[in-house]
Amino acid sequence: MRVMITGGAGFIGSAVSRAFIHSSDDHILVLDKLTYAGNLASLKPVAEDPRFSFLQADICDRAAVGRAYSEFQPDVVMHLAAESHVDRSIDGPAAFIETNLVGTFVMLEAALEYWRALPADRARNFRFQHISTDEVFGSLGADGLFREDTPYAPTSPYSASKAGSDHLVRAWRHTYGLPTIVTNCSNNYGPYHFPEKLIPLMIINAIEGKPLPVYGRGENVRDWLYVEDHAAALMLVAREGVVGDSYNVGGRNEWRNIDVVHAICDLMNEFRPRAGGYRDLITFVNDRPGHDLRYAIDSSKIERDLGWKPAERFETGLRKTVQWYLDNQEWWQAIRSGKYRGERLGVL
Ligand code: NAD
Repeated sequence: MRVMITGGAGFIGSAVSRAFIHSSDDHILVLDKLTYAGNLASLKPVAEDPRFSFLQADICDRAAVGRAYSEFQPDVVMHLAAESHVDRSIDGPAAFIETNLVGTFVMLEAALEYWRALPADRARNFRFQHISTDEVFGSLGADGLFREDTPYAPTSPYSASKAGSDHLVRAWRHTYGLPTIVTNCSNNYGPYHFPEKLIPLMIINAIEGKPLPVYGRGENVRDWLYVEDHAAALMLVAREGVVGDSYNVGGRNEWRNIDVVHAICDLMNEFRPRAGGYRDLITFVNDRPGHDLRYAIDSSKIERDLGWKPAERFETGLRKTVQWYLDNQEWWQAIRSGKYRGERLGVL
């Protein structure tokens, strides 16, 4: 296959790109604007492969996107490019509307033009795969799980923009017949995660002996998915997913934030013992405005229909992740010394 991956220099997109090159014969084109969150260093392990190519472009740029389709001739488009951080969406929602909504619209318009001109056999096999989030479903109470048919109820500027992009993708399927598939996944974690997100921020602050800021009382629950398990799910959906369907992808790993931070502290103490341990560094800070209480995914459909199962339990994935940040300090130090220094974002 020829696979175009938007946002392939980001956290999940780079994991998908590495997985394609390392475990398939497919050719990939990463199309990425290289915003603050895009990082070519995350693609270094595959950059020299002849089946890998990279194009710096903005998904809102209709002409550039159209050229990418016609020159690369994809069989599958995996659309991951997005503004992805809830706290940043509180500070500056405009970029989220632009990239997540307008950018997805541009990607769909270009896909439609390209798909309509394909010969029948290639048009039949073409897929536009949109990567979305469980946050579109809103917040759960203590019980229940998000299923594919759970009604949308987004609450943050980020999740509202992603919900809007999901609706656009479904509308292009319903109205124009474009072969689309949507996946909604839970919180990813793992190597190459930008240090503004909870898990890498806690690990890096712990390495540097800095305070570990936990929002509210750390009671919020997330369902953690190891990024390489997610990449495997996305590759499977690209090959075997049913057009028009959506698939929820989750790790069956529900953890309260405070328990995640405790687990990181304990792993850090095992790898790099500190007098008094690391839990002393935890400081509770004002909660995120509108912070959703709990997300949890029912991923039984992708497990049943496509045979996908996460390989990592949270304990094993987190151990690998802490180890990776200890072993790859040059990757995150380049970020921490420049575009993001660990400051608090998303405070009203
Ligand atoms: P990320 O922020 O790490 O990466 C986003 C990438 O998109 C970056 O490389 C950035 O340069 C690129 N990008 C941003 N705007 C662009 C534009 N206008 N044109 C071209 N490229 C642009 O994000 P991520 O965590 O890897 O998330 C990838 C996708 O998965 C997003 O669509 C996100 O909504 C979704 N998602 C993420 C999670 C998670 O836990 N990280 C969970 C559910 C869904």
